Amino acid sequence: MRQKIVAGNWKMNNDLPQSISLLSSLVSKELHNEVKVMVAPAFPLLYPAKEIVKESNIEVIAQNINENKNGAFTGEVAASMLKSIGVTTVIIGHSERRAIYNETYSILAKKVEAALAQNFRVIFCVGEELDARKKNEHFSVVENQLAESLFQVSENDMKNVVIAYEPVWAIGTGETATPAEAQEMHAFIRTKISEKYNNAVAESISILYGGSVKPDNAQEIFSQPDVDGGLIGGASLNADDFTAIIKAF
Ligand code: PEP
Repeated sequence: MRQKIVAGNWKMNNDLPQSISLLSSLVSKELHNEVKVMVAPAFPLLYPAKEIVKESNIEVIAQNINENKNGAFTGEVAASMLKSIGVTTVIIGHSERRAIYNETYSILAKKVEAALAQNFRVIFCVGEELDARKKNEHFSVVENQLAESLFQVSENDMKNVVIAYEPVWAIGTGETATPAEAQEMHAFIRTKISEKYNNAVAESISILYGGSVKPDNAQEIFSQPDVDGGLIGGASLNADDFTAIIKAF
């Protein structure tokens, strides 16, 4: 049975008072026990966020790490630092990191390694841009992203990997992949994992969909057989919307 996960990526939103208010509201809600709920605040908010959710099942996760262990990397954060405050899950390869911060395949492969070396769970994001989808190249784009930055991971470490399929054209745009498009790509990703590793690994990995998931479309997307949850941007900033998405399972 694959783990169902709904993770909220707050991006560069929510200061301390806003984070306290949103998390307090989430903690007060009855969330589905069978769904793993995660929230990813910005770095300075991770520690206070953990304090607020400590009596709940909500996990506080990071949006990024640096690929190096430590050293002269001004402004960066190492996996070991996050671990020291009890954060052990990180999002790697988000399309905004790829596009705005030039995170290449090789940097992302190093980030994945750095996180897994600290026994983190990695939510590894893949997804094509609109142009690739229009040219019918979306499968090869995603296949390359997996091959170049994730498939160096050992079979054993793959148990700590979650994949998020996020078509870039659907992020923050209000456009979503249709449930059928999401299912088609998730099934493709699972096949690629099976080819690289084996069927047992492929069947055990949670694959999340991300891209304008909202309370009114979550249920249809989550009902697809290879969709094991969602990575939620905009709608995770509102406690009622995020809760409704969690309850859509
Ligand atoms: C995201 O950035 O990971 C995302 C899915 O954003 P949104 O839900 O706002 O499209």
